[in-house]
Formats: sequence, structure tokens, C-alpha cells
Amino acid sequence: MKKKYNSLSKLMTPDFMFEHYYDITPEFLLSQGIEALLIDIDNTLAPYEQDVPDEKIISWFDSLKSAGIRSALISNNHPPRVELFNTPLGLPAYADSGKPGKKTLLIAMKEMGSTFDNTAGLGDQLFTDTLAVHKLGMPSLIVPPIKDKTTLFFRSKRFLERPFIKKYKKTHADSTRTVS
Ligand SMILES: [Mg+2]
Repeated sequence: MKKKYNSLSKLMTPDFMFEHYYDITPEFLLSQGIEALLIDIDNTLAPYEQDVPDEKIISWFDSLKSAGIRSALISNNHPPRVELFNTPLGLPAYADSGKPGKKTLLIAMKEMGSTFDNTAGLGDQLFTDTLAVHKLGMPSLIVPPIKDKTTLFFRSKRFLERPFIKKYKKTHADSTRTVS
């Protein structure tokens, strides 16, 4: 399975792109054999300044849970941010996760009892979120950042992501899931 992402281009190109996290349905996940999700917080579920989940986020997690899909929060942000955000959700949650490192992902998978064959990642950044799960041979779901930081560092990262987003769009030109 790991051989699937055996080049830089494959490591960096997401498998699925959605406009919003809530466009990802339990039906879609199950149709892809995905029963567990490793989920980024910042700019994937909520902007940096939103410190607690809104109703939409809570009901999306409820829908996953009802379908038997397990979730864990995997954030590179610090513990206070992650703990506060997770309070109403009560999920396995990991701060300072060190993505694109894979160590925290493996710990979370162990806690969820999921495997390389039924786990995927959801995030907004190719260099951290996509790369981390692809290194483990698992699929990456990506949404555009909810509210991008406009610092030079972040703008440079987005610029470097562009060829891989382009590649995704080219490969999935016929897909209704493609972000326009
Ligand atoms: Mg993020």
C-alpha cells in the first residue's frame, strides 16, 4: 500500500479535494473504505480565532459517529488550543503533533483501533497534512484553508502547493468533487 505514494509528486498530491469539511459525508467515506479520520483543526474545521466548535462542526462529528466512523484531532497547534476546541467533542486529540512527522498519527490510530487500510487524513495543508498520511500509505482529503494567513511564510507555502493542486485537478477533471 505504501508504494502508492512513491514519488514527491504522489506524496504531495491529495487524493480527494472538497470545498468544505462538511461536504465530506459518511457515505462517501465508507464508499472509499474509510472508517477512521485523522483531522486537522486550524483552517480545516475552523479559523485560528474560533476557539470552540460551532453547531455545524458538532453535528458533522455526530454524523460520522453515527455511521461508525472514528475521528481524532491531530493538530500542530499548542495544547490549550486543542484542549479547548475538543472540550465539547471529547475526541482523541493531539496537540504539537509534529506533522508531517508520522509519530502522532500512529499513536492516534492505535487509540482509535484503526489500521493503514481503513484510515485517512483530512487537512488544509499539503506540506503537513497530506505528506504525513501519505508517508503511511493512507489517503489524504484536503479542503482549501478557511481563512488563510497572509504572512509571507504562508503565502510562499501556498505558492509551492500550487503544482500539486493543479495535478489533482487535472487528474480529477471529471469528478464532481473537484474544487473549482
Ligand atoms: Mg491546518
